[in-house]
Order: sequence, then structure tokens, then C-alpha cells
Amino acid sequence: MGTPADHLHAWLRDAHAMEEQAITMLTSQSARLENYPELKAQIDKHLQETRDQVAMLDRCLERTGGSSNIKDITGKFVAFGQGLSGLFVSDEVVKGSLASYTFEQMEIASYKILIAAAEYAGDQETKRVCEAILQQELAMAQWLDEHAATITRKFLERDQQGMTAKH
Ligand code: MG
Ligand code: FE
Repeated sequence: MGTPADHLHAWLRDAHAMEEQAITMLTSQSARLENYPELKAQIDKHLQETRDQVAMLDRCLERTGGSSNIKDITGKFVAFGQGLSGLFVSDEVVKGSLASYTFEQMEIASYKILIAAAEYAGDQETKRVCEAILQQELAMAQWLDEHAATITRKFLERDQQGMTAKH
């Protein structure tokens, strides 16, 4: 058993670890993309948003719980992200889009949980921060959703023409 504030703090730490993993995934995807400039630009935009999200979560963690060691749970999300990332496979841009969309859905679910928990715990500032982050995750998920078919077609066209298609 724990207080609502304890649970909120623990879930904020989970979100922090999730965002650290997002930075790792987005950074490696961006570094490898060469032939998909729109996707790369969108990833870079979301990478900057994600760095800001980590900073916002840091402040929520400081406010809600003192001096927890954030690092000790990061591993939970590392394996998940690595399994999804699909880097270095022959269709990595397609696998990467799939991984990114999946990851954004996890983030959306996580912030909806945090918003409900913050509301329950009476933490209006954390609720406000998580609502702002949620909008960024929804926008990224929507962009990926709207561009999945185009990216797939472009991959297939380039591959068909013997051009570098995978990234
Ligand atoms: Mg995020
Ligand atoms: Fe995200």
C-alpha cells in the first residue's frame, strides 16, 4: 500500500525512464535517416520536445518526492525500446516507424494514467505538466499515423529501383 502521492511519484519516475529511452531511440533513428527528410525533421522536432519533457518531469519529481534515484528503473524501458527499434534491419525505416508509433501509444497511455493520478492526489501542477506533454505525444502519434502509408510506399519504390531504401 502507498499513498496516492507515492504512486504518483513512482509513475513519474517510470515516465522519466520512458522518456530517456525515447531520447535514445529518436537520436539513433535521426542519425541514420538519409533519404526521408520529412521523417527526420519530425523526429528531430520530437527529440527536442522529448528533452524538454525530461526536464519537466525532473521538476515534477523534485516537487513530489525529494531525492529518489531515477537511474535504477531505467532498465525496464531499455529492453522494450531496443526490442522495438528495429535498427540495422533491411527495412529499418518501416520497422522504425512501427516502433515509434507503438512507443507513442505507450507514452499516451502513461500520461493519461499520470493525469488521473495527479488529479486524485490533488497535484494540479503535475496534472498541468502531464496534460501539456500528452498533447505533444498525441501530435507525434498523429503525424506517424498520417505518414505511415507514404513512408511505406517510398521505401518500396526506392527498393524497387535499387536505391538505398532502408534509411
Ligand atoms: Mg515523450
Ligand atoms: Fe513521444
